[in-house]
Amino acid sequence: MEKITLPKGTKDIGDPEIFIWYHVENIVRLEAAHYHYIELRTPLFEHTELFARGVGEETDIVQKEMYTFLDKGGRSVTLRPEGTAPVMRSYLEQSFHIHNPRMKYFYMGPMFRYERPQAGRMRQFHQFGFEAIGFQSPAADAEIILLADRIYKKIGLKNIRLEINSLGCRKCKPQYLETLKNYLRNQAAQFCKNCSNRIETNPLRVLDCKNESCQNILHNESFPIIQNFLCDECRTHQNHLIGILESAQIHPVINPYLVRGLDYYIKTTFEMKTEELGAQNAIGGGGRYDNLSDALGVKGIPGVGFAAGMERIILLLQKQSESKAFFQKPFIYLSPLDQQGENVLLKLSIVLDEKSIPFYLDFSDKSLKYHFKNAQRMDASFIIIAGENEHQTKTYTLKNLLSGEQKVVSQKTLIGDLLEAYQNVKNT
Ligand code: AMP
Repeated sequence: MEKITLPKGTKDIGDPEIFIWYHVENIVRLEAAHYHYIELRTPLFEHTELFARGVGEETDIVQKEMYTFLDKGGRSVTLRPEGTAPVMRSYLEQSFHIHNPRMKYFYMGPMFRYERPQAGRMRQFHQFGFEAIGFQSPAADAEIILLADRIYKKIGLKNIRLEINSLGCRKCKPQYLETLKNYLRNQAAQFCKNCSNRIETNPLRVLDCKNESCQNILHNESFPIIQNFLCDECRTHQNHLIGILESAQIHPVINPYLVRGLDYYIKTTFEMKTEELGAQNAIGGGGRYDNLSDALGVKGIPGVGFAAGMERIILLLQKQSESKAFFQKPFIYLSPLDQQGENVLLKLSIVLDEKSIPFYLDFSDKSLKYHFKNAQRMDASFIIIAGENEHQTKTYTLKNLLSGEQKVVSQKTLIGDLLEAYQNVKNT
């Protein structure tokens, strides 16, 4: 029979890469606790309408990328392509806007988009995200960006560029959209089919097109940039945000083409980019989405948030750091020589676990040579050998794999010796 393989655009994450994931996940959880953003775990699938209305009918995500199917009850459901609309759905569904309107959330987990897979672009990928709902102030935008910056730095990432833009608000955006449409209409014939279809329905999406020739038409001196159309309120919002960031030594670059692929953003949008991952250069992004609640049926709930792509963060970390630093290894390799040895070492493993000393117990009836090799491959510091003889004499043979020193120790003194050695290794 043919082997069954992974679906395209998905991946198994295991030893050793999983340890880098733990490193990233631990930092995200720690920072969430410091800033008191509380985790929300929403379902992996939602009613399709949530994303159609929330993310926007005209977006690539909704038009081309969703895993949508009818369940056995004939309802259309969609594997979540992003995390913000589900968080807002949950907030509104539980009526937080009435009894506790200011909420700070975080989430972490898989997302699904039917995209053309390549390095850093998957069909099942993972994001962590932070959402501050109920806050109008640009200080909330600043907190979200600061938080993202803190997390990237604590993870150990370097050379990340922060780009920001404003998409205007209900007051100033319509005038900009009209000007933009006029500009795009004049060049309509030169755009790809997708873009020319969107000029009338959702012109901002044209700015997002990945097609190089479309981008060349846009990057032109006569292109009307939104920064010149912002109303006083939006301009003040942006200046205030930049002021806070600058005072925290974060220096954003204004990119007037940054519209992002989801329709719900107004005012602030931002993206974190790297030069080191080729075309998939965005490792996170977000913005203000004061219109999202309206699309979901409740008027005027402000929100701001960001989402980071974990695969890309991990790719970048692997490029920039020594991945081995994150690997967890057993401190002690337990090597039984026979059934008696297995019994003795299983008992010992309980004591090691109680003392929080990591170990690996091998059950293969292989030669001692195999066990030594295996212990070294796993980067263990010590190996303990036990069999019938050790059982009779109530001793263990303990070998330090770093120094090569080998000795026979009594069961009584073993734990004390190991604890001391383990503390020394942990402290170096
Ligand atoms: P978005 O939800 O589109 O704002 O994306 C936020 C971040 O998720 C991006 O900056 C990427 O780092 C990551 N991301 C988005 N789509 C994918 C994908 N298909 N594969 C891997 N990462 C992705």
